Amino acid sequence: MNPELFYPYLQQCTKVSIDSRTIAPGDIFFAFSGENFNAAELAGDATDKGALAVIVERKEFEDSTKNIFYVPSTLQFMQDLARLHRDNLKIPVIGLTGSNGKTTTKELIAAVLSKRFNVLYTHGNLNNHIGVPLTIMSVKPEHEIAVIEMGANHQKEIEFLCSIAQPDYGYITNFGKAHLEGFGGFEGVIAGKSELYTYLKENKRTIIVNGEDPLQVQKTTGYEPVVSFGTEDADYHFASINKGNFVGLSFGNTEVISQLTGAFNFSNLSAATTLGLHFGLQPQEIKEAIEGYQPTNMRSQVMVKNGITLVLDTYNANPSSMAGSLQNFNTFKGSKTVIIGDMRELGPESLAEHTAILKMALDMDFDQTITVGDQFEAAGRSSLSFTTTAELTDYLKENPVTSKNILLKASRGIGLEKVLEYL
Ligand code: ATP
Ligand code: MG
Repeated sequence: MNPELFYPYLQQCTKVSIDSRTIAPGDIFFAFSGENFNAAELAGDATDKGALAVIVERKEFEDSTKNIFYVPSTLQFMQDLARLHRDNLKIPVIGLTGSNGKTTTKELIAAVLSKRFNVLYTHGNLNNHIGVPLTIMSVKPEHEIAVIEMGANHQKEIEFLCSIAQPDYGYITNFGKAHLEGFGGFEGVIAGKSELYTYLKENKRTIIVNGEDPLQVQKTTGYEPVVSFGTEDADYHFASINKGNFVGLSFGNTEVISQLTGAFNFSNLSAATTLGLHFGLQPQEIKEAIEGYQPTNMRSQVMVKNGITLVLDTYNANPSSMAGSLQNFNTFKGSKTVIIGDMRELGPESLAEHTAILKMALDMDFDQTITVGDQFEAAGRSSLSFTTTAELTDYLKENPVTSKNILLKASRGIGLEKVLEYL
């Protein structure tokens, strides 16, 4: 089967999926031949559930009478099909990458633009070589704008994702100390993320740039078209405001207070507002969209439980976002405890980065700094350290935290959100 021949199925389908459990009538199922599951069984299962077509990468499972088609690589087929679909799309596609804040910014942009347009945007964090094709293939004729998150942990990945998503607009949230291992240090991060700029420049597409971020400015000076925000002379200028623990921005007579905590969210809000204004939305619509956006995804999420203010930031962590979170949390009023877990994927710089973060936390005004994970344990003495989240929860059962505010932040793999029920 080749992508051109298969394309009519994509145009007719209800949705595309790589998970047979989610298949409903009219869907396309892309089956991967993993070692642990039987692709033939899954393909049959999908057909029984009314799949419009199934793609398999094992010749022996092909059955064209049931629209089960063989391709040598399901992954490559999905990518080629997505690229073909993108070639046919006439709507603006906004592509996002960066070290921190991609999902938050994507959600904010989508919330804002949805006030006026039918927006298709990356579901959750499906931002890789599988998620980007799935997202692009999900664009239907009724959609008016697409917002695509692109993630990477090594060189050439963003270049590849750009070849599929082909963004008309591109925004890099920032360059930070994330995925240092795969990128080969901070310079490698800059080079890898900047592949988005290279794509935009080569194809004369629009760059959205945060004028207050010197590295982004440096990477984009002299290029047109650019839509800038931040500085006084930028296309859009916003003032940062805070209300309680929440960040906001103001422009003209409009004041917007988000439900996000952390000064770093100011640039995320600014990017979303910039795109809203660029696409012709009224300030009031932007305000409603941002103020209505409630993070429920463990990213800069604030919740109050048993009278304690909890900052739940356990979706991911790296030195840049950890430092930002600690600095922000340090401004909270009242007694404070931080519970921080290891930051993964830092390679040879791991121990030094954990040591620096631990020192930063211990120098701040916290009742207690509790750490989880062997990297923090190796980094030195904190008030309390545990190797695993399970050990910490055992401890908390006997010794509840008494501070008025608690920050929880770690890489996803630490599973720190499990602590929540013991607070
Ligand atoms: P991932 O690599 O997992 O896709 P992401 O880039 O999508 O991450 P988010 O999930 O939006 O990032 O945010 C993760 C965390 O990064 C937040 O909870 C917050 O601590 C921090 N963060 C968010 N925005 C920024 C920013 N602009 N600058 C620095 N840190 C940020
Ligand atoms: Mg993300």
